[in-house]
Amino acid sequence: MDVGILGATGMVGQQFAALLAGHPWFRVTWLAASERSAGRRYADLPWRLPSPLPDEFARLTVEHLKAGAGPKLVFSALDSSVAGEAEAEFAAAGHLVVSNARNHRMDPLVPLLIPEINPEHLALLPLQKEKSGRKGEIVTNPNCAVVALAMALAALLPFRPKRAVVTTMQALSGAGYPGVASLDATANVIPHIEGEEEKIEPETRKILGRFAAGKIEPYPVAISATTTRVPVINGHTESVSVELGEKISREEIIAAFREFSGPPQKLGLPSAPAHPLVYLDAPDRPQPRLDAERGGGMVVFAGRLRPCHVLGHKFICLGHNTIRGAAGAAIFNAEIIAAKKLI
Ligand code: NAP
Repeated sequence: MDVGILGATGMVGQQFAALLAGHPWFRVTWLAASERSAGRRYADLPWRLPSPLPDEFARLTVEHLKAGAGPKLVFSALDSSVAGEAEAEFAAAGHLVVSNARNHRMDPLVPLLIPEINPEHLALLPLQKEKSGRKGEIVTNPNCAVVALAMALAALLPFRPKRAVVTTMQALSGAGYPGVASLDATANVIPHIEGEEEKIEPETRKILGRFAAGKIEPYPVAISATTTRVPVINGHTESVSVELGEKISREEIIAAFREFSGPPQKLGLPSAPAHPLVYLDAPDRPQPRLDAERGGGMVVFAGRLRPCHVLGHKFICLGHNTIRGAAGAAIFNAEIIAAKKLI
């Protein structure tokens, strides 16, 4: 299937290009970005990933952001200042927009998807079309810091998570390019990320929620989040304390993490890791430099599970922010949409 990338020149856009090169189902034929890049050959723009620019992109020219042009399926890595309007225009013109941006995530008609957790939320798509009057649809993936937390809490759903406190240590690549000034970031911790904490509770509750009677009923877990930026290149690490509705042992929680799996594993989707949530026994893991890239960046790692004298249990988790938390997540969403024959 031919696909396009909106915002192909940014941090996440380049990650899309790298992950889609040689994809068994999707072939990138169309790239778009701002007026700054439009008209230029993709190969002539700065490439910022350690892997080389895939050959198949060298011949493509970056196009203007014009709805209706490009293939039916477009991935969006647009800056949030433009994503809201641009994605709605592309959907109105009949595209299926699989987006990373925050703008439409909390729209009650837009699925906010993690394929292992809530693929049944795709049932919103016909309702979205009908109520919005658009010929196409929008599907989103969560904020990069939400993914690891939501996966861990999804594994714990049988034990009824009630409250969680999370402190994130987020990588610099999460701020896009050029991102945080080097004089601010080097050897430092910045204890604030604009607008980030506000996304964590509602997005997690929506993802864990139940689809019933045409809408998503958010899962009733209370979450208190503190988000920080640390001098790490890729991989958001999170310290999580959780209160569960059931009295269970450490071994049962570790087993729940290790056994966690979902429809993508059964369907054998191209991006599905065999074990989406891996618990590491070593007391000094997971670490972003050692673990974030493992499993193609699609695995969430957990570790250091121990008693919490306030909420019951606490642990560390880690996810690759531009892969499982962004481009990889959106490609994974498109794979489950294609596997379910919704495009
Ligand atoms: P980025 O590096 O700043 O890239 C932004 C992209 O948007 C570029 O391709 C840029 O094109 C394009 N753009 C900006 N203004 C535009 C305009 N007026 N018209 C058309 N295109 C425009 O940002 P990023 O980190 O890749 O993030 C992209 C999106 O993904 C954001 O919405 C972000 O919140 C979300 N996200 C990022 C991460 C992460 O870890 N980085 C994780 C999850 C979600 P030019 O190069 O031509 O300016």
